[in-house]
Amino acid sequence: MGCSACYSACPVHCITMVPDREGFLYPEASDVCIECKLCEKVCPLNNEKKDNSYSQKAYAAVAKDYTIWHRSASGGAFSEIVRHWADEETLIVGAAWDGFKVHHVGVLGFENIAPLCKSKYVSSAIEDTFIDIRKHLRLGKKAVFCGCPCQVDGLRRFLVKEYENLLTIDLICHGQGSPLVFQECMKIIGEQLGEEVVSYEFRTKRKVVEEDYLSKITTKSRTHYVTKDTYQQLFLSQDILRPACGDNCKYRDIRRPGDLTIADCRGLTTIFPDLRGSKKNYSTIVCNTEKGNRVTENLSDTMILREYSLEDVIKYNPLFARQTWASKERDLFFKNFIDAPYETICKKAKPLVVKKMNMVTILKILLPSPLLKILYKIKV
Ligand SMILES: Cc1cc2nc3c(=O)[nH]c(=O)nc-3n(C[C@H](O)[C@H](O)[C@H](O)COP(=O)(O)OP(=O)(O)OC[C@H]3O[C@@H](n4cnc5c(N)ncnc54)[C@H](O)[C@@H]3O)c2cc1C
Repeated sequence: MGCSACYSACPVHCITMVPDREGFLYPEASDVCIECKLCEKVCPLNNEKKDNSYSQKAYAAVAKDYTIWHRSASGGAFSEIVRHWADEETLIVGAAWDGFKVHHVGVLGFENIAPLCKSKYVSSAIEDTFIDIRKHLRLGKKAVFCGCPCQVDGLRRFLVKEYENLLTIDLICHGQGSPLVFQECMKIIGEQLGEEVVSYEFRTKRKVVEEDYLSKITTKSRTHYVTKDTYQQLFLSQDILRPACGDNCKYRDIRRPGDLTIADCRGLTTIFPDLRGSKKNYSTIVCNTEKGNRVTENLSDTMILREYSLEDVIKYNPLFARQTWASKERDLFFKNFIDAPYETICKKAKPLVVKKMNMVTILKILLPSPLLKILYKIKV
């Protein structure tokens, strides 16, 4: 799963995480290995999941603060949870961009979490963050980790014991996309736009209402808004997921590794008809432990929270508890991709549809953000 628990646990540092030909990281041990088998002991694949007897509670939640909502993929649950859990010495670990690569990094204090916000639908490298978290916890300081459920499970198994000063947050996860395919897509998109891509953002919120699958692609001289771009088409087709994801993920289960699970709140206006016409998307927060519940109960100062049933979480967001379908074309895609990346992507993905800037759109972008904030408050 590339969770890096083995890499982090190795007492003689003989394991390196090496990308395979699809771009996913796998552990490789050198001959410095002393056969201690610690790597096997901490591996989530070799371990059964713990039964969780806690009676889980679920909430639909949205940040009251427009800026927090705007910089988040869904309702801003991650930011608000961190705001309540963290003090200025808390180590906050989440996924951030490093050029067109994604890796987990740690920052100190809530004010510094902006790079960790928003989903990056590309497999993230854990690097030394598990080791940094353990050091921090052993100093008696608090830490919080957010990532895919396999990464959260990897961290907990690496730590071996439970720490009261650690909060873990997992995500309902469609699957991790190939970093190599993402990088190749950036080259192709740049070519189609006639200029090199310099930065990329998933799930851009241009207006008050979130537009699904809208990405913000910045080239040297312009910003483009694109719906279902080349990479997103491939990601949604499931052809470019890690083999352990898709229909093979063992974390599609209500027994979650994190104290909290966060996700997009699907079915919001069916579950809460009074929210019809809402100008924003909400997060789902599921409390899987007493600690997670304690944090969530304190969120009502900064978030609107509406409790709903676990059955509805499963009904409207089935990846919480059920496998997804397998892509029959995945293996063929990667076989062709390895030989001819450019041709394989262009054959599979339709050309870009760049959103035309009509007068209304331009006005919406140019409207001063205080006006957007007022609009946001009208319908929370
Ligand atoms: C690969 C992936 C697949 C997902 N699939 C689904 C899905 O099918 N259904 C669903 O309801 N929700 C899914 N999500 C979760 C969803 O996209 C939002 O992250 C979630 O709604 C929380 O949003 P937010 O507004 O609370 O926080 P945000 O501010 O958007 O923060 C989200 C958190 O996600 C973490 N994160 C971002 N990218 C990665 C990454 N590549 N690897 C690990 N952690 C990352 C960040 O560390 C951050 O802490 C997925 C997320 C990822 C990363």
